[in-house]
Amino acid sequence: MNEPRRARNLAGVGMTSQRTRARMVERLREEGIADPRVLAAMEAVPRHVFVEEALAHRAYEDNALPIGFGQTISQPYIVARMIEELMRGRELGRVLEVGTGCGYQAAVLAQLSAQVYSIERIRELLERARSNLRELRLSNLRLAYGDGNEGLEKAAPFDSIVVAAAAPAVPQALLRQLALGGRMILPIRQAGDSQRLALIERERRGFVETPLDPVRFVPLEAGKR
Ligand code: SAH
Repeated sequence: MNEPRRARNLAGVGMTSQRTRARMVERLREEGIADPRVLAAMEAVPRHVFVEEALAHRAYEDNALPIGFGQTISQPYIVARMIEELMRGRELGRVLEVGTGCGYQAAVLAQLSAQVYSIERIRELLERARSNLRELRLSNLRLAYGDGNEGLEKAAPFDSIVVAAAAPAVPQALLRQLALGGRMILPIRQAGDSQRLALIERERRGFVETPLDPVRFVPLEAGKR
């Protein structure tokens, strides 16, 4: 219907141009993101497509932005940081993302993996993500409506799991659905309402957890909405 407008929007102009995005990637490099695969994926995905028109000019600032329903699009640095940690010395393999939101991180993951699944509990957001993602034509990305606390049994096991919302503890189903040799990264809520990223690796002898940076994510809620 309004094809020409959408097409121009995808390429971006001014504050949404490829040059602005290249500057964002340069900042990520300065902040310590070093994996060229991750930087290339961040450069490939037009983040402005995932925020409302009124906020598009701010899409390449390194900030979380509102996407409706009390949720946010994750900060580019955090997206890059989590994926870099999952990819250290390996490939992503089969990926599950919990908390699709607007679909931005899912699109970045889809640049780096042959098969990505992303699950979201707010149906309206999932539909919005679907429409944001449509013009990117990522045939290796599947979206699912459901409670990410239960993972996505029918597509398990996963080599990489990334959770975009903070839980008080690691959901058991996600541990079960992590492949041997797999890695999961997620924000864990700590005492005093602070949060910290945790990296969990599934080894033959069990799960090994490494605490990483302090972060701030929206809460991982229970059940579908
Ligand atoms: N990945 C997004 C970030 C979305 S914010 C990005 O690229 O910017 C986190 C998302 O997690 C919100 O959309 C929220 O609705 C969702 N969420 C919270 N609890 C959930 C649950 N139990 N299952 C699935 N999604 C959940």
